[in-house]
Amino acid sequence: MTTKAKLTGRVIFRGDPGYEEARKNWDPHTDRYPKVFVFAKRTADVVNAIRWARQNNVPIRPRGGRHALEVNLSQVNGGLVIDVSNLNTIHLNKNKRTVVVGTGNRVGRIVNTLGRQGFIAPFGDSPSVGIGGITPGGGIGPLQRTTGLISDNLLALEMVDAKGTVIRASKKRNADLLWATRGGGGGNFGVYTKYKFKVRRAPVRATVFQVTWPWEQFEKVVRRWQDWAPHTSTKLGSELSVGPKKGGNVSMLGMYLGSKQEALRLLQPILSVGTPTQITVRYLPYLKATKFMLAPDPLLTQRFSNQFSSGFGKRPFPARAYRVMREFLEKAEGGTPAGFFFLNWGGAISRIAPRATAFYWRKAQYYVEWNSSWVKPSHAARNIALARNTRKKLQPYIIGSYINVPDQGIKCSGPVYYGKNYSRLRKVKAKYDPGNVFNNPQSIPPAKKR
Ligand SMILES: Cc1cc2nc3c(=O)[nH]c(=O)nc-3n(C[C@H](O)[C@H](O)[C@H](O)COP(=O)(O)OP(=O)(O)OC[C@H]3O[C@@H](n4cnc5c(N)ncnc54)[C@H](O)[C@@H]3O)c2cc1C
Repeated sequence: MTTKAKLTGRVIFRGDPGYEEARKNWDPHTDRYPKVFVFAKRTADVVNAIRWARQNNVPIRPRGGRHALEVNLSQVNGGLVIDVSNLNTIHLNKNKRTVVVGTGNRVGRIVNTLGRQGFIAPFGDSPSVGIGGITPGGGIGPLQRTTGLISDNLLALEMVDAKGTVIRASKKRNADLLWATRGGGGGNFGVYTKYKFKVRRAPVRATVFQVTWPWEQFEKVVRRWQDWAPHTSTKLGSELSVGPKKGGNVSMLGMYLGSKQEALRLLQPILSVGTPTQITVRYLPYLKATKFMLAPDPLLTQRFSNQFSSGFGKRPFPARAYRVMREFLEKAEGGTPAGFFFLNWGGAISRIAPRATAFYWRKAQYYVEWNSSWVKPSHAARNIALARNTRKKLQPYIIGSYINVPDQGIKCSGPVYYGKNYSRLRKVKAKYDPGNVFNNPQSIPPAKKR
């Protein structure tokens, strides 16, 4: 007879003190009313939570840093949220050049801890994103052309599967699970509790840069950026943002793992376009440089709800794509964040074969995402439609989509997120979660038995 499972860890049912705080995600649009939250303090709490949920027929959602960008991913009405945020140990092994982190850590904390000891941890554009979710999706950011994606550095993991069994994966055992976790997306196979990454020495100093242009020059700047950024030194990462017509501008933020003089030389093609209104280039101690890149992004003060969509560019946008961009930027509300974001591709990411890990979209020149946001719930529908219609119009000029910046408007999304890796991912899913216990609106369904 199976013993009755009991919830352990910090358990918060609907109506308990702390429930409202527990259900606040970064994006208010993703907040739901789960039946219960379990804040796991140890792996055993995750085991108990999975067993309890299955015995009580309650849907499960794993949660790390609460930064999900679509609904019903890390929370669901009536469900059990297994929140790993208290699993936040960090063990750096300087000799072996590895770090083992609890999946509840936020990216910024890992960057800081490693940076203080002279090591690089790759990061994106927000320090408060959880390592729990960003890793299995890929993990893109300004260092990726040197370090690869966050998931390219994943060497091993610990996960609790649908039966409540703790399993480990590395190149030597359960290698298919490691493969799938390097790009297959969170919430698909089980609840990750530990990740082991390889790390590399940080330079003593690095150059950071920030440049802004008037909004009216966006077309010129994007055009030059698309010709320049994917082909410049792979030690240079560049994020280009274009805001809405109402109140927005064009801004570029980036990092170069080298001297200021070299950075200025490399930046010349982009600095000479249009009339920048502000140019900052600073050569800083590495840790300070990471702080420059990672402005504080506190979780509970975020007021804006968003609809994002994402893809990859294989070649520079043609004139027609700029018309789509302009239409979107003119229609975006203003007063709330909205716009386009580009990140240069190439280097370490493209040196890995598309089928070598679950992350397929390696041969692009740049990543692109756009988002529309709102405060009043009554504005949700039109902003969601704006972002999704823009996807339809941009479709001829982009490929794929990034699972960490998902869009539930995408139909038959598997091949869009995973390209030719989708069928293998379905097989891995069938092995580790044949009953599809871990599911969400766009999760990977198990392959059918033949
Ligand atoms: C402000 C902001 C900035 C961002 N910037 C970047 C960026 O620069 N680069 C980038 O690559 N992405 C970026 N993202 C996207 C981010 O990678 C994804 O939203 C990611 O899924 C967030 O992970 P999380 O743990 O914080 O979120 P959660 O909401 O906790 O989880 C997100 C998803 O991951 C799953 N998940 C989380 N933890 C676990 C776990 N332990 N086991 C199994 N599944 C788990 C959840 O079930 C859910 O499906 C950004 C998001 C935001 C909101």
